[in-house]
Amino acid sequence: MQGHADGLRAAAGAAGAGGRSEGLQAPRRHRHPRQIYALRSIEQDLGLDRLYIIGTPCSDNTTTSRFHEFLARLADDPDTITYLEFHADFHVELRFRDGRTKEIPFLKLPISKLPPDFFPMTCRTCVDYTNVLEDITGGYMGGQGDQWLLVRNQRGDELLGLLGSEVRSSEPGSAGKRKGRVTGFLKNTWRAAGGLPLRGMPNFVRPIVGWLMPRVGPRGLEFARARPEMKAVETVLHIRRAYPKRLRTMVPEHVWAPVKPYGLTKDGSDTPPAG
Ligand code: SF4
Repeated sequence: MQGHADGLRAAAGAAGAGGRSEGLQAPRRHRHPRQIYALRSIEQDLGLDRLYIIGTPCSDNTTTSRFHEFLARLADDPDTITYLEFHADFHVELRFRDGRTKEIPFLKLPISKLPPDFFPMTCRTCVDYTNVLEDITGGYMGGQGDQWLLVRNQRGDELLGLLGSEVRSSEPGSAGKRKGRVTGFLKNTWRAAGGLPLRGMPNFVRPIVGWLMPRVGPRGLEFARARPEMKAVETVLHIRRAYPKRLRTMVPEHVWAPVKPYGLTKDGSDTPPAG
């Protein structure tokens, strides 16, 4: 189901600001998946009538200081950046204090220049990209310009209902093929997990591929399938490298199915990807 960002924000506002609304104690939380696991585990002890959780998919966070290092690579005046958003059309949008905006194709992001520990191991091995314990999840993951909403249960449905006609929904679309993107990601992650530098694309090719990606890359539901597969690949490769003895206990069973088409196996009999 697709809706609009404003609609999701409206849902948050309508649910009340963490206090009582129509006699119902309805605090809401918007957290990273791992925090929601902790919150759900103590939900019964909190003495609440209902707990509504709204959130987004989550991937690859870093520390505040590292994030500022990243910003410094994106603009000459990083201190004046007021807004950054990763869009589904493979661009990052930056807004500046003086009203300027800047769009950077994902391919031009200086990812291969980031230090190897830029993303902590917790994020590189996180297996809940889609934030499964929320009542309603929104974001760009399965959208094609518009936002995408995943209503997981009756509480999520109640929250969406609060929006009424403010949200316009339609069936999500799907386009492109994810196999090549996920395979390319696997090759680079294999190198990174082995301590090798990420392989950057030649500069002259970047504008062409940057132009092609929003047109032929995985979009909509196909993109929504690609990201969890990439996260699963990343989890297996990094845990195998950093904690080989814990592979069986740290990688949940459901992660092995999405990595299988890419040649990764539980017993480690896979071979390094070519290239
Ligand atoms: S991706 Fe990182 S920040 Fe997000 S839930 Fe996982 S470990 Fe936490």
